[in-house]
Amino acid sequence: MADMTSSPRPLLNRRLAEFGTTVFAEMSALALRTGSINLGQGFPDTDGPEEVREAAVRALRDGRGNQYPPGPGVPELRTAVTAHQRRRYGLSFDPDTEVLVTAGATEAIAAALLALVEPGDEVVALEPYYDSYAACVALAGGRRVPVTLRPQGGRFRLDLDELRDAVTDRTRLLLINTPHNPTGTVLTREELAAIAELAVERDLLVVTDEVYEHLVYDDAEHVPLATFPGMRERTVTISSAGKTFSFTGWKVGWITAAPELVTAVRSAKQYLTYVSAGPFQYAVAEALALPDSYFDGFRSDLQRKRDLLGDGLRAAGFEVYQPQGTYFVTTDITPLGEKDAYAFCHALPERCGVVAIPNSVFYDAPDVGRNQVRFAFCKKDDTLSEAVDRLRRLAS
Ligand SMILES: *Cc1c(COP(=O)(O)O)cnc(C)c1O
Repeated sequence: MADMTSSPRPLLNRRLAEFGTTVFAEMSALALRTGSINLGQGFPDTDGPEEVREAAVRALRDGRGNQYPPGPGVPELRTAVTAHQRRRYGLSFDPDTEVLVTAGATEAIAAALLALVEPGDEVVALEPYYDSYAACVALAGGRRVPVTLRPQGGRFRLDLDELRDAVTDRTRLLLINTPHNPTGTVLTREELAAIAELAVERDLLVVTDEVYEHLVYDDAEHVPLATFPGMRERTVTISSAGKTFSFTGWKVGWITAAPELVTAVRSAKQYLTYVSAGPFQYAVAEALALPDSYFDGFRSDLQRKRDLLGDGLRAAGFEVYQPQGTYFVTTDITPLGEKDAYAFCHALPERCGVVAIPNSVFYDAPDVGRNQVRFAFCKKDDTLSEAVDRLRRLAS
């Protein structure tokens, strides 16, 4: 056997070399070690609706989905997805040819990029990025081209000129995320219309991560990119039951897209997991048929949590970029006399027993976002109140 330790060749291949362990693992370990409240990773600490959990138990007991489900996903779920898209957005998709169930949105992102990107293709993506985007573009051999969202008037905005300038003859696709993690920005109708026009004009594919479609606050509105003129045939839309129903461990996601796009993405997906989460697919089919009151209640619940944490962060001295969507609030630590989010987040557990994530990890240029820190508010009210009490120590 070769002596791996003396090998001059690194074990991890070149495409992934720049992606070490994620900061989430590091910060979650720190939370555990220091007994801190973990507002780093974005998972809810309360499960979703009881009837949906029971639906999963029923499916397991009735022997539905305990063996490999069909490659595109179980028909019940595909039909429920199309009914949801019609009911919420007036979009009509064919459950047989235009829906693909995936192992969470994470696999949908990976499969879409692996299927649609050739080595050397450029992928224009909104920065700060969700953490799997850069790695998946790299796995596909693509080149990522960031367009940076910048704070302006209390929220992060997309500079449409910068977006247009980022597109070249080598651009294959636009990778969009709205509502946007980590900034909490919800792209406006005007911003989305401009993205759509650009995609049509330059004949680009669009992959749009809309996992927070149901988490929009105040008078913000989630408008799927696929609803804009010329977009339905070029857009892969990604959703996740993890985020919409608070079952992140189930890993049920899906895409909706035109048949040729679904076929392409499925070509990659079949060699990743082939299929997953059989019984949970039946439960998510039932969840999607929940009345509007579920979705409204979920949203108002999270909006209240946003305000609870946001008010606390302001009181503690942070500048808060009010999120209009998602689980997350991005803050600026400059008013606290701090400059380096990474160092700040490492010290925070010792200083006041709270864990957060430095946004610098979501940027290509580590300097941008150097003073930004992200907190998750998808936690129990008691946990958030306790976190707010602890954070107050920073102000004194
Ligand atoms: C959580 C998240 C995902 C991953 O969703 P899963 O269904 O858990 O795989 C993808 N994109 C964004 C923006 C997310 O926040």
